[in-house]
Amino acid sequence: MLSTKSNNTFADATSSTFNVNTEQIRSYYNSGATKNYTFRIQQLRKLKNAILENEKDILEALHTDLKKNAAEAYFTEIGLTLAEINKMLKCLRRWMRPRKVKTNLFNFPSKSYLLHDPLGVVFIIAPWNYPFQLCLLPLAGAIAAGNCAVIKPSELSSATATIIEKIIRYAFPENYVTIVQGDGATVVPQLMKSFRFDHVFYTGSIEVGKNIYQMAAQNLIPVTLELGGKSPCIVEADANLKIAAKRIALGKFTNAGQTCIAPDYLLVHESVREKFLQIFTETIQHMYSADASTNEDYGKIINWKRFGRLMSFLKQGEVIYGGRYNADTLYISPTVITNVDVNASIMNEEIFGPVLPVFSFTTIDEARQIILKNPDPLAFYLFTNSKDKEKQWMDIAFGGGCINNTALHFTNGHLPFGGVRNSGAGRYHGKYSFETFSHAKSILKTPTWFDPSIKYPPYEGKLKWLKKLFGY
Ligand code: NAD
Repeated sequence: MLSTKSNNTFADATSSTFNVNTEQIRSYYNSGATKNYTFRIQQLRKLKNAILENEKDILEALHTDLKKNAAEAYFTEIGLTLAEINKMLKCLRRWMRPRKVKTNLFNFPSKSYLLHDPLGVVFIIAPWNYPFQLCLLPLAGAIAAGNCAVIKPSELSSATATIIEKIIRYAFPENYVTIVQGDGATVVPQLMKSFRFDHVFYTGSIEVGKNIYQMAAQNLIPVTLELGGKSPCIVEADANLKIAAKRIALGKFTNAGQTCIAPDYLLVHESVREKFLQIFTETIQHMYSADASTNEDYGKIINWKRFGRLMSFLKQGEVIYGGRYNADTLYISPTVITNVDVNASIMNEEIFGPVLPVFSFTTIDEARQIILKNPDPLAFYLFTNSKDKEKQWMDIAFGGGCINNTALHFTNGHLPFGGVRNSGAGRYHGKYSFETFSHAKSILKTPTWFDPSIKYPPYEGKLKWLKKLFGY
């Protein structure tokens, strides 16, 4: 049974279960208090200050959950969240203004514009791999757009979930933004059955994403689905191999490979395969040292279940680098494997760990066949110096990606982030978050000084003029 806590102080913010009083949240939203610009700015500032005040504890929690190095945790979690909030503080006034759009000739002399309304009470469900920012970065968007929110961090990253709870309870009254903790498979359906949210923003696996989509469909609740997938990384024959090696190693082995947009597997042009693998393995060793288990810059696997799954992948090819592990510390070293069967299970599901299969290709078509076995990846990466190759590769369907880089498209708040088809629906970050958490209301405003009779019956003799108005 969920219990209640209401004191708005850090000292009291340690309860692990909550009574989410959704009716209270609904009535606070209905009061209109969250809608004005000043209120939204104040709340964004409160969130920012609570994060700044708790920076040390957040870093500690991320270390406890995933052994994240402080520098990595700062740039992939805290820094990104603060940058998002700062962008909203800077741009919100402009985003909230009515947005003028053109008006067609048929409606002359009307004017047209969009008004951005909040969606209402939104539900944000987050995963464990970037447990801080994947919870609070969407929350910043929800606040900026004038919503109330319930957030659900992952139970698997419990230290971070605790500090998030502390921040939320300190910064916000619980009838405005509140948090629900616990086993997602129990708590989420329970909440979604008992309350009609106005939007669900879900980040996590495809499998659970489908459940969320179904539950939301019962009440026609719109959803944003930020899912996963197998993101390919291509190294063309003309690529700068040293740069490719560094950037691929960073994208793959940050957070011990537990990144939704990590390169899942490599496709290296046959003509540079040997050279690339040599540079790549030297680069990994340089970045994470010969024994990554003692390296403070290298993370751990989240839990025993995921560890076991990743161990089974190690047996599905020839390990040419790494392959070491320690079950006691949930450690799996950065690992490169070759001679993998494209039909093996490692190639049928997202790896989501530090194991990187490498394939070679000679023609784009050959590589495409491998990619199409897992269509619509969340990300796609291409290393090449050729504009022609760029054009050839860019017509593959994927959520977003990089040319001559990996993963960092996520860190540019000017770019929308999201998947396509299998890898998700909807997008966010910066202005796109504001739009995701808003309803753009279309308004046509028509003056009364002009009211041509052509639109009104009787229509006799008007068809040819109406056709002209439509350009025919
Ligand atoms: P998950 O789907 O297991 O859990 C995500 C959230 O859903 C958690 O809060 C969890 O408590 C809740 N949940 C779990 N089971 C549920 C159920 N049956 N019903 C309702 N809610 C439930 O995902 P995960 O293992 O935490 O995250 C890993 C996956 O997330 C990977 O596939 C990864 O690619 C994806 N991911 C995507 C993004 C993105 O931005 N697109 C970011 C990070 C992770």
